[in-house]
Amino acid sequence: MAEQDALLDQLRTICGPAAVLTAPGDIEPYAVDWKQSFVGSPFCVVRPGNTGEVAKVVAACRKHGTSIVPQGGNTGLAGGATPDASSSQVLLSLNRLTRIRSLDPIGMTVEVEAGTILQSVKEEAAKKERLLPVSLAAEGSATIGGIVSTNAGGVNVLRHGMTRALVLGLEVVLADGTIVNGLRHLRKDNAGYDWKQLFIGAEGTLGIVTAAVLRLVPAPRHSVTALLSVADVETAIALYAKAQSEIGDALSAFELISGESIALVERHAGLKSPIAAGEWFLLIEAASSLTGLEAAMQVLLAAAFEEELALDGVIAASHQQAQSLWALREHVTEAEAREGRGLKHDMSVPLTVMPAYLADARAAVAAVSRTARLNVFGHLGDGNLHYNVLLGPEDHPAAVNRAVHDAVVRHRGSISAEHGLGQYRVGEWQRTKPAAEQALAHTIKQAIDPAGLFNPGKVLAAPNKGGAA
Ligand SMILES: Cc1cc2nc3c(=O)[nH]c(=O)nc-3n(C[C@H](O)[C@H](O)[C@H](O)COP(=O)(O)OP(=O)(O)OC[C@H]3O[C@@H](n4cnc5c(N)ncnc54)[C@H](O)[C@@H]3O)c2cc1C
Repeated sequence: MAEQDALLDQLRTICGPAAVLTAPGDIEPYAVDWKQSFVGSPFCVVRPGNTGEVAKVVAACRKHGTSIVPQGGNTGLAGGATPDASSSQVLLSLNRLTRIRSLDPIGMTVEVEAGTILQSVKEEAAKKERLLPVSLAAEGSATIGGIVSTNAGGVNVLRHGMTRALVLGLEVVLADGTIVNGLRHLRKDNAGYDWKQLFIGAEGTLGIVTAAVLRLVPAPRHSVTALLSVADVETAIALYAKAQSEIGDALSAFELISGESIALVERHAGLKSPIAAGEWFLLIEAASSLTGLEAAMQVLLAAAFEEELALDGVIAASHQQAQSLWALREHVTEAEAREGRGLKHDMSVPLTVMPAYLADARAAVAAVSRTARLNVFGHLGDGNLHYNVLLGPEDHPAAVNRAVHDAVVRHRGSISAEHGLGQYRVGEWQRTKPAAEQALAHTIKQAIDPAGLFNPGKVLAAPNKGGAA
């Protein structure tokens, strides 16, 4: 206790008393994850106001041997930002680092502090007709530090890649309190190891991201959105290939939503699909600075009906209609949370393997549960679906998890396409990841954070002697 009191005093001196929270009511919102699956108990929350303060906080925690859990908007879906229940960790919130330091519409870069909300950066970029092409339903709360640290995906990965593809430079604080300033606005920089890649997707286990330089793209002036229903995933993939041919690189999203997911959204979000149901729905978006998208989408839909690929479909006639079509997709996660106990899976396989994976996983889940219901939706164009399972009272989460993930391994996929491992998937990572890859991950952690100061228990499990083959 005396040790904790001494650290608290130091943190108050560094950041000011108002930036160090200890009252249970003040700490609570930071201690529970978005899904309310993980509840932690940090002994304090510290909210530094700039990079220098972050560095001093890290150095103080290191001196006192106290581990640190970094947190941005707390929208992560893997429990990565939730501390453990030991009351011995410091939760370091970046939510006061909110400055957009510069926005260059010609070089097309933005330099921004870690706690800035993604949506604010997008709004600022839009004023200069530029776009930060990371789009996710949580963008009103997710922060730049969080999206970098989870290498977030979202609906525009198809066109622009994961967050990693947009990061040009990072500023990070290391475990000894050193500030490494790599905030270069360069498209090309092969001068040595590209160390920033290690911190992208590290989920706060290697250092604290305090600022980033991100690549912008021209804001599209035109966009068109369509919703289609189809009978099966093979047909959805055939339509994807057609969309690639008809719409080309203006294709910006190709999302798959199961009929079950739409039913959940209709039940919990008060929304209604404007088209007749099929087993699956497709939300297709094209966006470009050039005109002609509407015609290309019409050609696609005409072919889809002529060849009897689509059961029903509609092209949004206005921006408002497009938003209501997108609302059906954006409310799935929330509707699932309202429906009851669910298990999230975030799998990816090569796109052409997806139908075989879905059949295999469905059979595998049915073999361990007679009551589980599926809620499958996601980024079909990226080969990434959220294969979520709503559990009945008798179902064993571990058995269902294993069934879904073993099918992923059989089809040479990933058990975490975009949400990360956090604490939620650590055990499954250890069970399914080849031993040599696990050993390499431990070598990296040991080299950069040898004392295990940052986010212990996340991403990496204790070294696995056996590992998966
Ligand atoms: C409704 C909904 C929809 C979503 N859709 C998507 C989606 O389509 N695609 C997708 O990829 N994700 C999605 N997510 C997940 C989530 O929004 C992303 O993971 C997001 O990047 C998290 O940002 P955050 O600021 O909330 O991070 P947090 O939740 O606060 O933290 C996430 C992880 O990053 C670490 N971290 C946070 N900030 C820092 C920092 N500055 N330095 C070091 N480590 C840090 C934390 O320790 C934790 O491990 C969704 C979430 C919700 C609730």
